[in-house]
Amino acid sequence: MDADTHRIDLPKRIIIGNGVVSETPNHILELGLGRRIVVVCGHGATNSYANIVKDHLVDSGLESWIVNVSKASTDEVAKVSSVAREVGAEVLIGVGGGKAIDAAKYAASRSHMKFISIPTTPSHDGIASPFASIRDLDRPVSTKAATPALVIADIDIISKAPRRNIIAGCCDLIGKFSAVLDWRLAHRLRGEYYGEYAASLALLSAKHIVKYSEWFAVKDIPVEAIRVLVEALISSGIAMAIAGSTRPASGSEHMIAHAIDVVADYPALHGEEVGIGSIVALYLHGRNWKRIRNILRSVGAAVRAKDVGISRKQLIEALTIAHKIRPERYTILGEQGISIEAAEKIVHILELD
Ligand SMILES: [Zn+2]
Repeated sequence: MDADTHRIDLPKRIIIGNGVVSETPNHILELGLGRRIVVVCGHGATNSYANIVKDHLVDSGLESWIVNVSKASTDEVAKVSSVAREVGAEVLIGVGGGKAIDAAKYAASRSHMKFISIPTTPSHDGIASPFASIRDLDRPVSTKAATPALVIADIDIISKAPRRNIIAGCCDLIGKFSAVLDWRLAHRLRGEYYGEYAASLALLSAKHIVKYSEWFAVKDIPVEAIRVLVEALISSGIAMAIAGSTRPASGSEHMIAHAIDVVADYPALHGEEVGIGSIVALYLHGRNWKRIRNILRSVGAAVRAKDVGISRKQLIEALTIAHKIRPERYTILGEQGISIEAAEKIVHILELD
C-alpha cells in the first residue's frame, strides 16, 4: 500500500434487537465464518450468557468450546490462543463487557481468526471497534486488533446491565467532543491525517447522548435509551475503523483516564474516568465544559475525584502525567502537559474534589 492508500476494515454484519443472540449460528453460517468456535467470557454472569451462545451453536451443528478469562491481560490472551489452536478454532466470540471482548479480539487478530462481538453491557465503544485494551502491554492504551466480522447486540441482555455500566457508556461517548477537537488540533499543528467523515460520525454519537440525556437521568433507564446508546457505541467503533486509528474516539480525555488507571490501578470503569477527563479537556480547549459537566451530573455520572475512587492528590498527579501516556498523540495537553499549579487550579475551578 502506498502512503495515500487508506484501508478500512468494517464489520460484515451488525445485528441489534431483542433476543437476537439466538440467531448467532444463522449469521455465522450465512457469512461462512467457520464451524469451530471458541467462546470467551468472564467468570460471572457472562459465563451463563456464553453457555446460552454455546447451546445455540451446538444446536445448529457447530462445534463450540468456552474459555473463561479473569482480565484482558497477555496471559489470558495466550490462554485463549492456546485453546483455540488446540481445538483448531476458526472463530473466536467475545461474550461480555470489556475484558472478554478485548481478550477475544486481540487473540483473534494474533491468531488470524474471525472475531465476533457479543456485548452484554453498553459500557464502552470497543463493542465494534478494531482496537483492544490489553492491560499489561507496554502502555495502558488500546492497541490494533481485529475488526469484528459480526456484532450481535441483544438488547434484552444489554438492558439488564447495571445502571453504572450504562452511564459509563454514555461518558465514553461524551469523550468524543474533546477527542475530535484534539484530532483537529493535531491536524492543524502537525499535519496529521484527519478524516472529516470519521470525526463527524464520532461527534454524532456524542451528540446523541446529549440529545437523549433526559432518558438516562431516570432511575430505570428505558429500553429505547439503551438502544440509542448501543447504536452510538457501535457508530463510534465504526468511526475508529474508518479512521484506521482511535483518533476520532480518543484524545486528551482518554489520556487523563489512562493516567488515572496508572496512578490508582484501575479504580473505576473506563467510561467514568473518561467523563472526568472530558470536563478537563473541554476546559483546556476553552469550550463549554460546564454544559457537559451539568449533563454528566444530571445522569448521575462521576464528576469528582472521589466518584472514581481517587483522592484529590491522585487526580492532580494523573493530570500532570497524562501527556506522557501517549507522547506521539498530539493533544491540547501539548508536550509539557499540565503543571502542578495548573492542575490544582483546574481541580478547584472545575469542582473536581
Ligand atoms: Zn473509551
